[in-house]
Amino acid sequence: MSDPSGCAGSEAALSVAQARAILLSSVAPVAGWESVPLRSALGRVLYRDVVAPFDVPAHDNSAMDGYAVRAADLTGEATRLAVVGTAYAGGAFSGVVGPGQAVRVMTGAVLPRGADSIVVQEAARLDGAAVILPAAQRVGQHVRRAGEDLAAGKPALLAGKRIGPAELGLMASLGYAEVAVRRRPRIAFFSTGDELASIGRPLGPGEVYDSNRYTLFGALTRLGVDILDLGVVRDDPAALEQAFAEAAAQADAILTTGGVSVGEADYVKDIMARQGEVRFWKIDIKPGRPMAFGKLGDAWLFGLPGNPVAVLVSYYQIVLDALVRLQGVDPLPPRPSFRVSCADAIRKLTGRREFPRGVLFQEDGQWRVRLTGNQGSGVLRSMVEANCFIVLPEGGTSVAAGDLVEVQPFEGMV
Ligand code: AMP
Ligand code: MG
Repeated sequence: MSDPSGCAGSEAALSVAQARAILLSSVAPVAGWESVPLRSALGRVLYRDVVAPFDVPAHDNSAMDGYAVRAADLTGEATRLAVVGTAYAGGAFSGVVGPGQAVRVMTGAVLPRGADSIVVQEAARLDGAAVILPAAQRVGQHVRRAGEDLAAGKPALLAGKRIGPAELGLMASLGYAEVAVRRRPRIAFFSTGDELASIGRPLGPGEVYDSNRYTLFGALTRLGVDILDLGVVRDDPAALEQAFAEAAAQADAILTTGGVSVGEADYVKDIMARQGEVRFWKIDIKPGRPMAFGKLGDAWLFGLPGNPVAVLVSYYQIVLDALVRLQGVDPLPPRPSFRVSCADAIRKLTGRREFPRGVLFQEDGQWRVRLTGNQGSGVLRSMVEANCFIVLPEGGTSVAAGDLVEVQPFEGMV
């Protein structure tokens, strides 16, 4: 890869969409897979299609508690049928339902032979050993057909699907005790900066605690990758060189924070460039303008800015989907966004895609969004208090209170 940016003249700033497109077209799923017990597959990515070994449901069965009947019997206003047996869930009635007969059935019971429909118990009136049922029943009503959920031999889940609660349940319904999942990518990360102190010791003059390793720990752990935390690395070329070499030898991807802008102590980019094939980008994004992307040995490299909010914004808006692709998820899940009225005015110039942090709230039955106070790129509180990104596109200018804006909720239903 001689030019991961895919464009000549790396000085020109890229749009967020361009940067994402380059990342997504570069990164491919990690090789390798393992077979794991079903429960351990939660959050993992299917390596192969899961084929239904049999029809689900396996038999025609009752969707309701009631009576299995021949619909043709129910002609008059109220028809009296002889109850000739009972079928429980998981059981079958051994006989055949003949004309003028009904079998009491519970939800999930195999549809008795001879019967074609279920009449719900609420519509029935018992009369000794008989039952009186109303007319106008539809043939096939309340019957779940064999194979209506999944047909034998057909893929029930496709390779590339991330396994959530429903997928676990579905594989269990097919009797799978183990499942082939893609190997978890291993992601190394470290923070750079002479001003950074690790938690657990008092701050010296001018120091700040390293928070980026904790936000990245959280984000990557949730993503379900194996993490390798390489700590804080000084703004020192030799130390950085060693950290990059160590990370590249062990990881499928490396995330760093800090040192990619144009300050005197921003060595990270020089070292990346010397050790690997890396491009530096200016991205038309706020917060998070500088970023590096490329390869060191076999490892993908993502050099994020240092400011704590810029780290999270670049991670979610640019890097995350590339890591999801590395995990083998295909197709990438859509990221839902919708438009709501903004309660606050937001100042903006054209040219950059901005991601102020917002709080979605309900007012008079309508969803609206407001800003979380100070939007400085070092103000982590703006993320903590937020439940969404507000997305202000490149072409847009300032937002007036009451304007519609696009929002991306932080949390999906999982
Ligand atoms: P840099 O991109 O290295 O110039 O860093 C930009 C700003 O982010 C500086 O104010 C840093 O102190 C701050 N910063 C960088 N890395 C971290 C970190 N790991 N934790 C907290 N703040 C950081
Ligand atoms: Mg720095």
